[in-house]
Amino acid sequence: MDAIAPQILPHKDILSRVFGYDSFRGDQEVIIRHVIDGGDALVLMPTGGGKSLCYQIPAMCRPGVAVIVSPLIALMQDQVTALQQLGVKAAALNSSLPYSEILATERAMRSGELEMIYVAPEKLLTENFLNLLDQCDLALFAIDEAHCVSQWGHDFRPEYLKLSQLKERFPWVPRIALTATADGPTRQDIKERLHLSDARAFVAGFDRPNIRYRIGLKAAPKKQLTDLLEREHAGQSGIIYCMSRNKVEEIAQSLCEKGFNALPYHAGLGKDIRSGNQDRFLKDDAVIMVATVAFGMGIDKPDVRFVIHLDLPKSLEAYYQETGRAGRDGLPAEAWMIYSMNDVARLYHMASQSDAPEAQKRIENRKLEALLGFCETTRCRRQVLLEYFDDNPIDPCGNCDTCLDPVESFDGTEAAQKALSTVYRTGQLFGSAHVIDILLGAKTERIEKLRHDQLSTFGIGTEFPKQEWRSIFRQLVALGLLKVDMEGHGSFQLGAECRPVLRGETTVLLRRDPQKKTRAALRERYKKSFGPAATIDDPQDEALFQALRARRLELAKDQGVPPYVIFNDKTLLEMVMARPRDLGDMANIPGVGKRKLERYADTFLSVVNKGRD
Ligand code: ADP
Ligand code: ZN
Repeated sequence: MDAIAPQILPHKDILSRVFGYDSFRGDQEVIIRHVIDGGDALVLMPTGGGKSLCYQIPAMCRPGVAVIVSPLIALMQDQVTALQQLGVKAAALNSSLPYSEILATERAMRSGELEMIYVAPEKLLTENFLNLLDQCDLALFAIDEAHCVSQWGHDFRPEYLKLSQLKERFPWVPRIALTATADGPTRQDIKERLHLSDARAFVAGFDRPNIRYRIGLKAAPKKQLTDLLEREHAGQSGIIYCMSRNKVEEIAQSLCEKGFNALPYHAGLGKDIRSGNQDRFLKDDAVIMVATVAFGMGIDKPDVRFVIHLDLPKSLEAYYQETGRAGRDGLPAEAWMIYSMNDVARLYHMASQSDAPEAQKRIENRKLEALLGFCETTRCRRQVLLEYFDDNPIDPCGNCDTCLDPVESFDGTEAAQKALSTVYRTGQLFGSAHVIDILLGAKTERIEKLRHDQLSTFGIGTEFPKQEWRSIFRQLVALGLLKVDMEGHGSFQLGAECRPVLRGETTVLLRRDPQKKTRAALRERYKKSFGPAATIDDPQDEALFQALRARRLELAKDQGVPPYVIFNDKTLLEMVMARPRDLGDMANIPGVGKRKLERYADTFLSVVNKGRD
């Protein structure tokens, strides 16, 4: 007779045996136990925090099939592929599949063979599918990207609203809703609309310490972009967000001409082109995706090393969500953005054009102000970002541009007074270009025609060059002292708080735009602040890392799957550091589970041990 095996907790066993990890992160274990015990849960965790395990492990511990609702069909397939690589019985159901495959999957659901089924909400709520579920044992419902249920969020999907039916129809099946978006109103909406008010809420901190935030001014955007890519991101994958389809095309083309492997993605491209480009982004190394916001929801690629914004996003929520696609593997990644006053005016213009009700417009306006305040801050970017999301306060992070390169500030009270009174004296009818011309005493045609050279403020601002005045005006807007006209001409209006400034009752602290620092100095400070795991220094380590990646890419190409579903960069880096000699060593590498050990250990061991006697 077999000896009785020591009691192993099933969820721990699955974590190490299937996923190859030896400990849970953050709240994962509490959440998993809660759901295994049949509880409902609302999980708010930043991108890359490890939300998937929170339902995947309970799905495997509880009897029956787990139903996972996810908004985008293309991405479901990636998740399913990744699970199949781990030896998990998972499938996705959608109408593009051949009928025979659908039938087989349905059979596997009924027989209890299948552990997880991924479906889109509109499919889930069809009477056919609900009837099928009636015939199955159900382990749980997981509702991924749960913020899609909220109009406050940025990805509202009406079909999500109907998911509230699940509670009525299957009251005994636990439900777990997950999202990375967690501002207060969205959170409240998720609870109410999905009927999760009794669910236990798990709110993780929202910080993404491995993402470095940098924000600069737009001067020569294409050059700034290629400089950055060449100097700091050669050979890496990343996403570049642009406002318009035209600009996406233009930037992608100009990058290709410079030898980068860049692809466009926007809603105006044919479906095949889009999915082809997305596929290459996922499956090849070092592809740069130039895209509108149409791209990226739920993109699971863990080794996106940079997310660039060449235009301002719509709000801080959107910024956080979009930049959150960088560095999901926990390795250093960058969020880099450049913007100008024109961007700001354009966003105000767009907001004014929307036919949303007044209350909604006011909210949008406030969101714009918060975004601009974030761009113009002299404080640690991460502090400002986390405060906005009501997260726990942190010390200055040491991994954003204002920490790495502290901004010099100066008493700008007098400058503000000059600027505000010029706006006032010209009837609040003009934008920055004309107002700055007046301050600098320029004899432009317009000034002469309007006789603005007669104003008492004409020529009183020559102590600052044009560039600096632009920065001052942006900051005055960010501080709420000026508003950009909602009618869309970009003219300035005085903000409510400008009176005490004009009367000299308050001081205004302004930032001086940072001078360029050498890259070496930046790197040095960054490393100091972020620790040794940030980069590989040793050339031999780097060579091994590249060799492992090359082998991974071959394997991935053979199977037609994205490289990271074989092993992600972090796992490869662990191999570089540990230099495993045999299967035993390999089994100890985080990210190497039983199934992957069987399939891939030998081939990666041969790469590691090449040249070793
Ligand atoms: P999210 O869905 O929250 O954005 P994922 O579930 O995709 O994040 O997880 C992000 C990465 O972290 C994945 O590569 C995942 O395998 C890894 N991960 C998750 N949990 C753990 C853990 N306990 N230990 C090590 N790695 C983990
Ligand atoms: Zn900081």
